[in-house]
Amino acid sequence: MPWHFTIDVDWVPGSEVGLEGLLDFCDQRKLKATIFVAGRFAETYPDLIRECWRRGHELGTHGWEHGSLEQDEDFRTASYDQQRAWISLATEAVEKASGVRPIVFRAPSLWIGETTLRALEDEGYRYDSSVPARRFDCGFGRVHYLKYFRAPSEPYRLSSSHLRLPGHSSLIELAPSAFLFPINMATLRVLGLPVMRWMVRRISQRASRLVFYCHPHEFVHAHRQSFPRNMSKWNMRGMTPENIPLLDGFVQHMMRQGYSPTLFAGSFSTSCAG
Ligand SMILES: [Zn+2]
Repeated sequence: MPWHFTIDVDWVPGSEVGLEGLLDFCDQRKLKATIFVAGRFAETYPDLIRECWRRGHELGTHGWEHGSLEQDEDFRTASYDQQRAWISLATEAVEKASGVRPIVFRAPSLWIGETTLRALEDEGYRYDSSVPARRFDCGFGRVHYLKYFRAPSEPYRLSSSHLRLPGHSSLIELAPSAFLFPINMATLRVLGLPVMRWMVRRISQRASRLVFYCHPHEFVHAHRQSFPRNMSKWNMRGMTPENIPLLDGFVQHMMRQGYSPTLFAGSFSTSCAG
């Protein structure tokens, strides 16, 4: 079964060390990742972004300055022109760094809307991985809206009328996997490997692929990085290089379950619903 190992590179000065560590980890485990990069990060560390590409990973974008802002970029409410500007700036920064134009997008904090789809189509994007299907963060996390809770877990062409519905957009959605809580590094850190194994089992009963994500800043001590003042304290406390062995336990579990790492581009353009 395919699974997508994805990395959200927020604009967090100091987190570049975490990305370097993740690249080495991917080499060791022969993982090819889809790496979503905030534009300012690509602009500041172009050599590192080029290195991601050189090692065989796929590059996408993840907002412009997301990660450094107290008032974060919100693709649910921003105007078309504003969203187009953020996406365009990030796309140019990643393309300038790597030589390749990204066509895969993940919205900061999975805050997305129908206007975002129009902006992505107009920028030539082909894949999105932002719709928080089956996800609602009780208490902690960033997803506290239910508009897309019933979106499909399988890949589907988006509808311009409602992102929850299959339609005829040029963009294919691959929602990050969730069983109320997301299949991500924060859940692994907080709830542990046994709970994650149980969640993967439940999700695999109705989904033929899985999308996991983690952040480079989760693998670096918080005091070595620059965060906005409103960054949550529970999150900062759990940031450490020792999360690499924890991640390794999860990755090895996925491999044993027969999941094979897959990139977004080209892997299911003809077979998906809608
Ligand atoms: Zn992010």
